[in-house]
Order: sequence, then structure tokens, then C-alpha cells
Amino acid sequence: MIRTDVEVVVVGAGPAGLATTVALATADPGIAQRMTVVDPSGGWLIDWHDRMARQGIRHLRSPITHHPHPDPLSLQRHCARVGLPHVMRDGRRLPTTAGFEHFVASVIAKHDLPGVVPAAAVDVAVSRDRVTVHLADGAVIACRRLIVATGIGRPRIPPGVSDDPRIRHAEAIDLRDLPPAGTRLLVVGGGLSAAHLVLGAASAGLPVTLALRGRFQVRHFDVDPGWMGPKYLRGFAAEPDRTRRRWAIAEARGGGTMPPWARQAIADLEREGAIDVLRNSPLVAADVGEQGLRVRLGAVEREVDEIWMATGFAQDVCANPLLARLSGRHTIPVHAGIPDLDDDLAWGGTPVHVVGSLAALVLGPTAGNLHGQRRGAHRVAKAVVPGFAPAEEVAHHLL
Ligand SMILES: Cc1cc2nc3c(=O)[nH]c(=O)nc-3n(C[C@H](O)[C@H](O)[C@H](O)COP(=O)(O)OP(=O)(O)OC[C@H]3O[C@@H](n4cnc5c(N)ncnc54)[C@H](O)[C@@H]3O)c2cc1C
Repeated sequence: MIRTDVEVVVVGAGPAGLATTVALATADPGIAQRMTVVDPSGGWLIDWHDRMARQGIRHLRSPITHHPHPDPLSLQRHCARVGLPHVMRDGRRLPTTAGFEHFVASVIAKHDLPGVVPAAAVDVAVSRDRVTVHLADGAVIACRRLIVATGIGRPRIPPGVSDDPRIRHAEAIDLRDLPPAGTRLLVVGGGLSAAHLVLGAASAGLPVTLALRGRFQVRHFDVDPGWMGPKYLRGFAAEPDRTRRRWAIAEARGGGTMPPWARQAIADLEREGAIDVLRNSPLVAADVGEQGLRVRLGAVEREVDEIWMATGFAQDVCANPLLARLSGRHTIPVHAGIPDLDDDLAWGGTPVHVVGSLAALVLGPTAGNLHGQRRGAHRVAKAVVPGFAPAEEVAHHLL
């Protein structure tokens, strides 16, 4: 049976899906009752909370003003009201993971947001003003708008790395379930995820080697703060050439970076001899060795027992099953994995909007983090609810 009483379907209940749902509910308080949200996890931000717990992340990297609610100060006010502290790191005010989780729950309750249908969307078809969404459990929903918020891309594994259960991406690591004492561990990557993994494993006494492709790069946030305001976004928005925009995104994101506090913690461990750090040592091969895994890191060869790849995510719309289906029927240009969406994040004039990191050609290199997700959410809310003017827009003129 086809459900036809739905106005908006949101696919993906992570922070990007939540930011868009909250923006819509702010723009039109009655709309939440006419929305359906689907995600196989069956709840809001289940994957996010789970990832923070697995990687032992106790506070966010981004400042307390970055979150899924349209009012930038609402997280700070909420934490002060309920007595949950923030942390000060390198002179920045950052929300704790617990405070963020508490805030998210309060936003969902306050806006009476819909529960999450525990299913994956597997297909989408668009007619002139209707979108039909097919779920894995066989259900079919017809709606006026579809918001695709399905995440940050696929885990990036460098070429030359064998498929072996002892080689895992950071996303698959749970620091609460460490390998046995004495396991020789190699962590690959120079970003904050690598730092979290090294700190967690080293504190349990495991012998850890950290291998970086180049040298350490220190940055407070994942991209330069100039990308969160007019300093860089104005020029980006004025650039008509999508190839140049794609270069700007790649350049701004660069390789992995650590905030100063994490870099200092790694330096302390290295100085104490608790970890081994290999700089300028890209992982070029990892194969099954005599006892463990034989790895080649630049010119260095080693044997280790496990490899954790903190090598980030690749944005590739073709690897997104749902959007690949849509792309087969409504082709739009794609630049190195990122689709060329309309200014309101619509897919080639259809009523399908894409939020999160795949909206980077419109929103810039922060599209996939909390700040960019909120900017994307506001663009979509303005398209769905004409006349909506989020408070932040007045400050930045950039949404
Ligand atoms: C370790 C880590 C820490 C981070 N910390 C920060 C931070 O402090 N500040 C910041 O701004 N950013 C941070 N980020 C970046 C970014 O905010 C997160 O990656 C965030 O989770 C991205 O949100 P999202 O909603 O786009 O994707 P996700 O959180 O991945 O959510 C996507 C959802 O879509 C669902 N889904 C996928 N396919 C389907 C389908 N076919 N049907 C239905 N549902 C589907 C998934 O189950 C998932 O729940 C961090 C990222 C990582 C990896």
C-alpha cells in the first residue's frame, strides 16, 4: 500500500537530517506532523552518539554555537539551564558530548519531531511534483519533498591495502573493546580521529605506532574558520566554475588536522616513549606477513598485528545507493564525486534536496559539519516554506 498523507520525507536521522527537520519545524510549526523520517537505526542521531561512545570522544571539536538548531546560542543556554558544563580547549568554548546529546533530545521533544521509522530507503522515483520513496521493508511513501541526509561518504582506504579483518577503518573501532595486551597496533592518519584512537589505545598500554602521510598539521576546527563566514564563502559563492569550487573544497579540507590540545597530547606520549610516531610515512602496502601484517610506510617496513585506518571519508555520490538510483533517471553533473546541486540544494530542479557533505559545491567545504549542515537546512527550509528567514542569516548574509 502507498502512503500518500506525507508532505516531506527525510532519509537519514543524523545531524544533517535533524538540522533540516528542525529548520522546517521552525519555519512551519505544523509541518512535523506531515513529515516522515526514515533511518535503519530507528532513532535520531543513533550513529552519532554511538560513534562518540566507541571512540571515547568526550567533547566536540566544533564550538558550542554549532549544532542542529537555528538559534546559534541555544545549545549554550540549554547547557547553562540544566547545569551541564562546556569545556574550554585552546581558548575555545566546546560542548561536551553529554551536553550535546541532552540538547538534541530537548530539541526533538520541544519541536515534537516525528519518531524515526526503522528502515532504509532503497529507491526513489520523481514525477513532476511528486516523489515516491521505496523502503527496504517494502513500504512505499509518496510525498511532495524528499530530503536526502544519508551521511558523510564511504570510509577511505588507501590502495595497496589487503582486505583483512585485522585492518579496520576508524568507524569500525570500539575503544571499549580493545585487542589483547601486547597487540602491536598501527594507527594511520594525521587527523583528530587518529589522535582519539592513539590516546585510547596507548592509555590501555598497547604498543602503538602512529604513521602520518606528511607532518602534523594543527588547526582548531576541521577547516579554517574563514570558511564559516563571509571571508571565504563570499568568493566561493561568486565562483561560477564548479571545477574551481571543487578544487577549493579539496584544498580547504586538505589532509587530516588536529586541534592544538590533541597535538600536544600526542607530543607528550611521544616524548614519554609511550608511542612511536612515523612522519612522512604514507602507507603504501599492507599484506599478510609471517605472524602479523607486513606494512610498508614510505621507506620503512614493519610487522604489526592490527591496523586502524583513520583515513577519513570519500565523498562519492555514485557510491550512495539511493542517489545513484536517482542519478540514473535524472542525470546532473558530478565533480569528483560531488553533485552539482541547485542553490536550494535541489537535485536538478526536482523536489529532492540533498544536505550534508554532498552539498559542498553550493555550501563550501564545511557542508558536512554541523555549521554547514545548519546552513544547508536553512536553504532547504526556505525552499519548502517561502518567507522563512532564519535569525543567523541576518548576521551572515550567506545562507
Ligand atoms: C569521529 C567524528 C567526529 C566528528 N565531530 C564533529 C564535531 O565535533 N563537529 C562537527 O561539526 N562535525 C563533526 N563531525 C563531522 C560531521 O558532523 C559528522 O560526520 C556527522 O555525523 C555528519 O552528519 P550527517 O547527518 O551528514 O551523516 P550521519 O551522521 O552519517 O547520518 C546519516 C544517517 O543516514 C542514515 N542512512 C544512510 N543511508 C540511508 C538510507 N538509504 N535510508 C535511510 N537512512 C540512511 C544512516 O543510518 C545515518 O543515521 C565528526 C565526524 C566524525 C567521523
